[in-house]
Amino acid sequence: MKRLKKMFIAVEEQIRIVCPHSKLYATWCRGCRAETEMVTFAEAADIICTDVDKVVEQTAGGAVHLGVRREALLVCLKSLLQINQARSC
Ligand SMILES: [Zn+2]
Repeated sequence: MKRLKKMFIAVEEQIRIVCPHSKLYATWCRGCRAETEMVTFAEAADIICTDVDKVVEQTAGGAVHLGVRREALLVCLKSLLQINQARSC
């Protein structure tokens, strides 16, 4: 006689959608203490469907991390998405 066993499998998947025209910069983030992907302020605003002032406000408050490269002041994409994960366009 065959015995049935129940098995529960939890699958965690992370899906990240970034605008296809966004340029990502791989840079060390002091806030994350890891190499992360960063975008410009304008691209960050596009990604979370808001204006640049909101992104500036979040970085000034420390919720979203800053990064610096020779060509631009950047925003940490990981912290940006964590803070704004409930937002949709
Ligand atoms: Zn970060």
